[in-house]
Amino acid sequence: SGCRSSPIRVVLMGARGVGKSAIASIFAGAVDSMDCDECEGYAGEVCERTITVDGEEAMVTLLDTWDSEDEGGGSQDQCIQTGDAYLLVYSITDRSSFLRASEMRISLRQQHPAQNTPIILVGNKCDLVRCREVSTTEGRACAAVFDCKFIETSAAMQHNIWPAFHGIVQQLRLRRDTK
Ligand code: GDP
Ligand code: MG
Repeated sequence: SGCRSSPIRVVLMGARGVGKSAIASIFAGAVDSMDCDECEGYAGEVCERTITVDGEEAMVTLLDTWDSEDEGGGSQDQCIQTGDAYLLVYSITDRSSFLRASEMRISLRQQHPAQNTPIILVGNKCDLVRCREVSTTEGRACAAVFDCKFIETSAAMQHNIWPAFHGIVQQLRLRRDTK
């Protein structure tokens, strides 16, 4: 199928502290997922593994390099340019991270203008209901404006993390199949 020869590069973007590394470690560890059968080379920043989505294998490389690169040097720009898909993460408990996500969506559009690039706006920490600063309705509306998918997750509760990755793979396949 060619999946093995070309891993999908998924980039985690988002403000510091929103849970990117927590999401990455679930992706890397995934002891409880029947869908995952291998994980190689997780060095805390990059993880490559094969996941099965709708009965078909896909190799995914996850990059969690955003925070370590925000001292400049254009690494974030490079990250943006080389991704096949993006998880744009904010915390539902932190409005400023939600605003940051909007800014990142705009630079993503400017620097990566390819049509139909899979982007999912991810509202993480949805377990922290009492500290919520961004409503689900607002998150969904923002995603609609920015023409991307939307999901609320909890890395702490391992809630909706896999659906987010599966969604990315499904979007890429849709794009591939309609070419
Ligand atoms: P990063 O800077 O985006 O990589 O964020 P981290 O993954 O390091 O997470 C920052 C903090 O938020 C850590 O203390 C995590 O344990 C916590 N955290 C991450 N995701 C969740 C979540 O879904 N729920 C809760 N309650 N805490 C979370
Ligand atoms: Mg981190």
